[in-house]
Amino acid sequence: MVSRKPFDRIDSCRLEKVTKKYGDRFAVKNLNLEIQGGELLILIGRSGSGKTTALRMINRLIEPDSGSISVNGIDVREFDPILLRRNIGYVIQNIGLLPHLRVSENIGLILKLESWKEEKIRERVKYLLNLVSLPPQIFMERYPHELSGGQQQRVGLARAMAMDPPLFLMDEPFGALDPLLRSQLQDEFCKIKKELGRTIVFVTHDINEAFRLGDRIAVMNNAELVQVGTPEELIFSPANDLVAEIVDSKRKYRHIDALKVRDIMQPLEKRYILYPGMSAASALDYMVKVGLEVALVFWNPENTGRVYLNDVLNAVSSGKSLEEAAKPLPLFSPEISLLEALARLKAEGESMGLVLEADKPAGILFSDRVLENLI
Ligand code: ADP
Ligand code: MG
Repeated sequence: MVSRKPFDRIDSCRLEKVTKKYGDRFAVKNLNLEIQGGELLILIGRSGSGKTTALRMINRLIEPDSGSISVNGIDVREFDPILLRRNIGYVIQNIGLLPHLRVSENIGLILKLESWKEEKIRERVKYLLNLVSLPPQIFMERYPHELSGGQQQRVGLARAMAMDPPLFLMDEPFGALDPLLRSQLQDEFCKIKKELGRTIVFVTHDINEAFRLGDRIAVMNNAELVQVGTPEELIFSPANDLVAEIVDSKRKYRHIDALKVRDIMQPLEKRYILYPGMSAASALDYMVKVGLEVALVFWNPENTGRVYLNDVLNAVSSGKSLEEAAKPLPLFSPEISLLEALARLKAEGESMGLVLEADKPAGILFSDRVLENLI
């Protein structure tokens, strides 16, 4: 038995021929799956398909009947299960905060068990609360019942991050939240994920969430793995009808070749457009007043660009014009093919382009939102 800290980083986590039965029914059947270090792997599938069971075998909350699970080539059975679990963040839907402990105590509990000093624990708790967008001065001393569902979920996330584990297992963490809150937490979670660069196995039954968060997606059905791949691989080469149905709920992908920029562009609200003659200073006033981080500068089809608030600030302080501050944008006609437009954005290293109709700005095409817009 290895009694030291199991691992500091994840190179790979491998499930080989893993099987778990309850009675004579398979919960997980002959599962082969490799999770790569640094990726966020989604496990998706209908209720009862074996997602939770697969996840809980990784941190040994459930022991498989046969097969093996290894992290960095070491079988997890060689680790003390308690130490293993402290080294793996685990986040579930109803997060199970201890009701009689304050937020700070809930988050700091494991650190206390690990004999951290009070002062260091407080520091870490504050850092984590900031990370999940809960100002520590407001939330540290609260009890779980004084928090909204979304806030409790954030505290659960902070608690899972307390020991800075290199691996996270997340089982429908946002499942119980209302759609708006869910979307906000997903955005924040993406930021945290980037910042921390951790390896994550994330269970969901929501394909939108899977596309939004996942680097790769593993589809499970009836205790078996059906397919694993990037969102694009699943969309363009589904292994069977079930995968096609899951990734293609509105059946638009079948016709992606036929889609035009018009079908996917976001309508451009007038307030985002700065017109000729505006000075950098008045553009700055306007952007601050309307609350814009980014705006489009439009003179005529040959003369357009995009400015961020910072660019305008810099232009004002260095005496530059708005036109000089703007960076040119790729321009598209709404009638050209979406795939062609995406290829051009990629080639030019841009994430957005301006769609012009009859020489007037009509919409914006965001390359990273294309998948989201299709579902
Ligand atoms: P999912 O998370 O995909 O909804 P689970 O992994 O929870 O699926 O369950 C897979 C299958 O195993 C289901 O048919 C479920 O009823 C069964 N199962 C899970 N846990 C137990 C258990 N403790 N006892 C008996 N059957 C179980
Ligand atoms: Mg489940």
